Amino acid sequence: MSNFSQESVLSVHHWTDTLFSFTTTRNPSFRFRNGEFTMIGLKLDQKPLLRAYSVASANYEDRLEFFSIKVPDGPLTSHLQHLKQGDEIIVSRKATGTLVIDNLEDGRNLYLVGTGTGLAPFLSVIKDPETYERFERVILLHGCRRVAELAYGEMITEKLPKDEFIGELVRNQLIYYPTVTRDPFRNRGRITDLMTSGKLFSDNDLAPLSPEHDRAMICGSPALVHDTRALLLDKGFLEGNHGQPGQFVVEKAFAER
Ligand SMILES: Cc1cc2nc3c(=O)[nH]c(=O)nc-3n(C[C@H](O)[C@H](O)[C@H](O)COP(=O)(O)OP(=O)(O)OC[C@H]3O[C@@H](n4cnc5c(N)ncnc54)[C@H](O)[C@@H]3O)c2cc1C
Repeated sequence: MSNFSQESVLSVHHWTDTLFSFTTTRNPSFRFRNGEFTMIGLKLDQKPLLRAYSVASANYEDRLEFFSIKVPDGPLTSHLQHLKQGDEIIVSRKATGTLVIDNLEDGRNLYLVGTGTGLAPFLSVIKDPETYERFERVILLHGCRRVAELAYGEMITEKLPKDEFIGELVRNQLIYYPTVTRDPFRNRGRITDLMTSGKLFSDNDLAPLSPEHDRAMICGSPALVHDTRALLLDKGFLEGNHGQPGQFVVEKAFAER
């Protein structure tokens, strides 16, 4: 059996001129843990061109969802951004990644820290009932430059709380805190600055970060990952990975080439 499936695009949504999402069919044999990524792509000039993508849909859903950047002249995304309903895409049958709750020790609060498309893995983590079994409160932080880039805000605040399966858990345990750096908005500033100043905690009635009670997953630009990791290490948090659960885990949302 091939390691790749051909999936059919079911819907496409453009958030801005740099961000879009799409859903596809899902081969029932594709298994993943919420928070993991896989390789997806297109056949270009008869050759597959694949890139790592977090799966934004939950592992119990029958379609796959991806949240994508449009890189000007990007080898894959300059084509991918033109996807239409009915187009075919290639999806690997293997998923992996560090952003899974099994890589975290038990704790009271789970912070999900994402910037830009780094939100994607957390969209599946916040739909997972096990997330709410393991943690009393789940705090989803999404940092962007512009308000228009805060994709999925309505899904998180309007649709998910009414969801038949997960709604009650979301209503009782999820805190969503979007923040932007370049537009007027109710929350402003970089996530690490909001943590350092304490505003994030006072705004949400949360205690300051402590390795005893808090756990975190981080996914964003190399700079966000670097700064947040440094902040947590400085507070005495231990980093986890496969086989060695810790108090926080990280993944870069993209690699600098
Ligand atoms: C573990 C992992 C998970 C990923 N998950 C996603 C995802 O869910 N959604 C997604 O859009 N991308 C994701 N990426 C990035 C993705 O693999 C590609 O880099 C992206 O699709 C652009 O592909 P490209 O061929 O057009 O350009 P590339 O040649 O891959 O990238 C060109 C440049 O664009 C910038 N860039 C690439 N991706 C991003 C991004 N997501 N946000 C901001 N700048 C970026 C970088 O500076 C990069 O050097 C992930 C990468 C990794 C390593």
